[in-house]
Amino acid sequence: MPEYRPQPTQHLQPSGPWPPPHRRSTRGKSRRIRNWLVLLFLLMFVASMLAVRTDELGRILPFIQKDAPPVTGLHPVVLAKSKELVEESAKIGIGILITDDFRSHADQDTLFEQGRTAKGPVVTHARGGESYHNYGLAIDFALKTKKGQVIWDMEYDGNRNGEPDWLEVVNIAKGLGFSWGGDWKGFKDYPHLQMDFGYSISELQRGYRP
Ligand SMILES: [Zn+2]
Repeated sequence: MPEYRPQPTQHLQPSGPWPPPHRRSTRGKSRRIRNWLVLLFLLMFVASMLAVRTDELGRILPFIQKDAPPVTGLHPVVLAKSKELVEESAKIGIGILITDDFRSHADQDTLFEQGRTAKGPVVTHARGGESYHNYGLAIDFALKTKKGQVIWDMEYDGNRNGEPDWLEVVNIAKGLGFSWGGDWKGFKDYPHLQMDFGYSISELQRGYRP
């Protein structure tokens, strides 16, 4: 690019802005690129810090835990709390049914196809390995009426206390340490309750187990 040299007369009679527009724009562009690179490095650094897990002495654990035991059922704490949920709900006159708990990767893949390549509504956005069900950390519930009907009616007030039974069950579940799929941003999964014990799906996929 030719260097811009102002003519001597321009000192007396400036004819335009300095530096000329084309020089300002290229300088601004390289600065923008540099800023983006700095931001990218910062984000990568933060992401790497979030991704590492440390043991109780603060030592960084390997990215992948190779000797991860296969998960074949509900985590014992989740199992115990599920039973408590059924009991506590019954105490206030609400019958519930745990419709789903541990799901294998294959089961999850089958469920994922529902509403996509198979019939029925979409019930999950998670493929095999992407759901807490696949690690025994989630359950789904439905209400059971006195006549034994299983329903997913979120307004149903079977115990006639003026509050929807569904939300009463959710409140008991939260008190037991579950988080609720109805609180998720975006896709909401109202029957879904889970305990992550501080583990992300990414960590569970890399072999970490609570
Ligand atoms: Zn679920």
